[in-house]
Amino acid sequence: MSDKYDVIVIGAGPGGYVAAIKAAQLGLKTACVEYWTSAEGKQVLGGTCLNVGCIPSKALLEVSHKYEEASEHFAEQGIEAQGVEINIAKMMERKSGIVNQLTGGIAQLFKANGVTSIHGRGRLLANRQVEVTDGDGKVTVYEAENVIIATGSTPVEIPPAPLKEGFIVDSEGALEFDEVPKRLGVIGAGVIGLELGSVWARLGSEVTILEAQDTFLPAVDQQVAKDALKQFKKQGLNINLKARVTGTSVKRNLVYVNYEDTKGEQELKVDKLIVAVGRRPNTDNLLEADTGVNLDERGFIFVDENCQTNAPGVWAVGDVVRGPMLAHKASEEGVMVAERIAGHKPQVNYDCIPSVIYTAPEVAWVGKSEEQLKSEGEAYKVGTFPFAANGRAMAANAASGLVKIIADEKTDRILGFHVSGPQASEIVAQGVIAMEFGSTAEDLALTCFAHPTLSESVHEAALGVNGGAIHIANRRKKK
Ligand SMILES: Cc1cc2nc3c(=O)[nH]c(=O)nc-3n(C[C@H](O)[C@H](O)[C@H](O)COP(=O)(O)OP(=O)(O)OC[C@H]3O[C@@H](n4cnc5c(N)ncnc54)[C@H](O)[C@@H]3O)c2cc1C
Repeated sequence: MSDKYDVIVIGAGPGGYVAAIKAAQLGLKTACVEYWTSAEGKQVLGGTCLNVGCIPSKALLEVSHKYEEASEHFAEQGIEAQGVEINIAKMMERKSGIVNQLTGGIAQLFKANGVTSIHGRGRLLANRQVEVTDGDGKVTVYEAENVIIATGSTPVEIPPAPLKEGFIVDSEGALEFDEVPKRLGVIGAGVIGLELGSVWARLGSEVTILEAQDTFLPAVDQQVAKDALKQFKKQGLNINLKARVTGTSVKRNLVYVNYEDTKGEQELKVDKLIVAVGRRPNTDNLLEADTGVNLDERGFIFVDENCQTNAPGVWAVGDVVRGPMLAHKASEEGVMVAERIAGHKPQVNYDCIPSVIYTAPEVAWVGKSEEQLKSEGEAYKVGTFPFAANGRAMAANAASGLVKIIADEKTDRILGFHVSGPQASEIVAQGVIAMEFGSTAEDLALTCFAHPTLSESVHEAALGVNGGAIHIANRRKKK
């Protein structure tokens, strides 16, 4: 038996590392167990988000966006740029540099806050003991007053498309291509499939996305989703809905994808295939039989609204528990749990967690869609404003998409805030703040927004909720 801690966190992704830092800041003796190992055999912190998720994907999205701008859209703005070329090796080197800088930063934050970093695979035993097996197979058991499980998730594999190195890859492999595939297939038109498909389409791949569902982005407000779909199609992303993959094979350096759609059986021939059909919680070999921690019917660790498991003193946060698989949701939960262990009583406001798809246009939302409100029988009113009527968006050559605000018919409180368009990921924060503070559409309408800004579209949409938009004809008459 080794040292006893107030808190041991298993997993150093955005759920785990944030929980560990916060716990240490609150004066708790804290350790964090992480098994991610670099090629040099060193421990790597930061989890999926920093290593193979949010950050590297955004590094590639930024570069590919700039490349596409330079090669396709500079001329229409009066910039003559000849011989624009993409250097994939350089782009990947930059991406790795950013990842290394950020993951190294977490190690420094652990040191600065007094978090003990333990390198190895953690496993929860009964009575809040954590068994850690290091790279050499040495086993150490640690004791803690509280354990936070933050082991995250991994990509789901599907039987018709088993991974095959260099040909059929998951999201991790799709961040590592060493050349632009001429033809690229993507299974899954979710957030990850759309983002990674966009990266390679912008760099010149002919991209076909196969999606089994019949609705595009069913979780997104459908007015916004349809607007985004139109833009994606214009950019050359070939998105096939109701297309169910039935098998794959690799022959003579090509991937053959068999699928069924409304027209019957089809075959797609591509150079590479990305499988992006979702992620599953990491719970394999994590829990000894007598820990008292239960899983829910979908295999996630069962927790209450405060991320407490069935076992006293054992908590779980992030992708390994219910709710959206998002880094900021994981971090919010990590902070809440650390605070609760320290005796405070904060709660995560699950109604105010934004979601973003970092495509062009970006798609971002918080709160409820029209479809949700309709199905719940809620009376609501809507204000929308298109970026086509926003001067700043026109100046930026990005005048597509819209802002849509949905408010309660009677109280005027904002229930949903949806954006597709330039910098939607930044604009959505205005909706989050407004909803967090219980704002009405009128509150936003009475707020002064700088001119000319993309955010003026938020102002106009808020004005439009009650029929008062200035720069567009109002759908609703002002009462
Ligand atoms: C391509 C891609 C793009 C994404 N983009 C975004 C985005 O833009 N925005 C966003 O919010 N989210 C994004 N996500 C999702 C985001 O990465 C996850 O929601 C987030 O990382 C979850 O954090 P977590 O701490 O729960 O788990 P993870 O980040 O998965 O971290 C879990 C950690 O636990 C470790 N671990 C697991 N089991 C053990 C064990 N037994 N012992 C020790 N260590 C263990 C793992 O090695 C890992 O480091 C993206 C994901 C992908 C794949």
